[in-house]
Amino acid sequence: MSREQLVVQRARKSFQTGKTKPLEYRIHQLKNLLRFISERRGEIADAVKRDLGKSARGTELFETLGLEGEINLSMEKLAEWAAPRPVEKSLLTISDEVYVQPEPLGVVLIIGAWNYPWAVTLQPLVGAIAAGNAAVIKPSEVSSHSAKVMEELLPQYLDKDLYPVVTGGVSETQELLKQRFDHVFYTGSSTVGKLVMEAAARHLTPVTLELGGKSPCYIDKDCDIRIACRRITWGKFVNCGQTCIAPDFILCEASIQSQVIEEIKKCIKEFYTDNPETFEDYGRIINQRHFKRLMALMEGSTVAVGGNSDESQCYIAPTVLKDVTGESTVMREEIFGPLLPIITVSGVDEAIQFINEREKPLVIYIFSHDNKLIKRVIAETSSGALLANDCLVHFTVDALPFGGVGNSGMGCYHGQYSFDQLSHLRSCLIKQLKMEGVNSMRYPPHTAKKLGWARFFLLKRVNVCRLRRMALLATLAGLAAFAVQEPSYEFTDTTRCSFTLVCKIKHHHELLLGQMHKMQ
Ligand code: NAD
Repeated sequence: MSREQLVVQRARKSFQTGKTKPLEYRIHQLKNLLRFISERRGEIADAVKRDLGKSARGTELFETLGLEGEINLSMEKLAEWAAPRPVEKSLLTISDEVYVQPEPLGVVLIIGAWNYPWAVTLQPLVGAIAAGNAAVIKPSEVSSHSAKVMEELLPQYLDKDLYPVVTGGVSETQELLKQRFDHVFYTGSSTVGKLVMEAAARHLTPVTLELGGKSPCYIDKDCDIRIACRRITWGKFVNCGQTCIAPDFILCEASIQSQVIEEIKKCIKEFYTDNPETFEDYGRIINQRHFKRLMALMEGSTVAVGGNSDESQCYIAPTVLKDVTGESTVMREEIFGPLLPIITVSGVDEAIQFINEREKPLVIYIFSHDNKLIKRVIAETSSGALLANDCLVHFTVDALPFGGVGNSGMGCYHGQYSFDQLSHLRSCLIKQLKMEGVNSMRYPPHTAKKLGWARFFLLKRVNVCRLRRMALLATLAGLAAFAVQEPSYEFTDTTRCSFTLVCKIKHHHELLLGQMHKMQ
């Protein structure tokens, strides 16, 4: 039996004991995860420094702070998320219990990526624990230092059988994917995403695919270009551009291209000094393979800012490329590095057309003062998300689902979306063994009269809650008016209306019950 097989088997056995069902157990594990982050901050930061050259503060800001927020939110809201969710009743379910009960799926496989090795691996884990699942955690082998620390330290905090960490590369991941899981949560490239989905399909296992792609950024000429460029510079060059939601390229009118370049140049200097290579808040490309890939992507484009590099250090300066076209080499794949091409268009019409001719991106950015223009881009394009007048920050809004569409992925997470994504939302309908008369309409012989009743019950959409509320309100209003006016017994218009309403509802109700009895 392979190591991967053994690990999954152990996780399943442990899940089947039912120990993840009580919410207290899940909260205990979430607390331990929080403790892991706060006690092991140093080890986490060291590992990320060695993987991506990031500073300790950068790691806290972009990796662990969000995780802490997500864990706190999950602990605070768990009881609410896990509770039965009553649904709207119909005439047919008026006296039944009708609700959705979230339940754990079982054993989840989480495959993480290297660019934010802690955030993208542990954030789905928060959802998996909260939803009551076991989870096999497979960090990316590309961010090897983080993977090693995760493998060594996480089991000291979490239940080892339920939440094992499996390290390794492609062959280990493929071995894992041969096992049967109840859900696979994958973060990484679209190419590997297809392989993951194929492997999961063999077991009919559902997948969440958090993928990437080329996220466009349109700058309207009438916006505050200085502010727009500041936010874009931050969103693009953080983590050296190795961010799935980094603006991949800029679309703008030719008349503002040089102003955009100048503003971005100023911001690069302000954020990363004249020499980003020696500045602690500017990181490194993950490895030589990606370094070479990025250098090759620049071929044929004109460098407007930056462009210098050092292969031995995996360093590429924040770089802006100008006069790029849709056919340029840099536009052939997701950049995932510190290169920012500018493509000029004649206006928003051409920008929309440019976006719609390509795969659906993970996010579309638009900078404009004109709300109508923003709404138009929302209406005429499609993407995982749309963020106007800022970059990246939609990721931090836990009330918004985070995920792609089409080539940029499927499924979503963050906050309650993580909980729901990794739960089965089970339909529960509890009827009584009474009111058999109502059922006659579905039992043979199928008469025209019964069919008429079936039409009425199935097609008439009566809002039962509203009906009940109206009846209650009418009764209360009637009684109140009656009490106030008791000495004279004179009915005002309000009282009359209220009584009429009560009578009408009562009449309909009696009619309905009468018919039901007749059918019996
Ligand atoms: P990667 O190389 O780390 O691969 C991701 C995972 O897939 C790893 O755990 C790896 O072991 C596994 N893997 C790689 N090849 C495999 C194969 N042939 N079979 C099975 N498993 C395999 O990461 P990457 O793919 O270079 O990640 C970068 C991509 O991830 C970018 O496209 C980026 O946009 C995307 N990404 C998306 C998000 C998101 O939340 N949507 C977040 C981060 C990264």
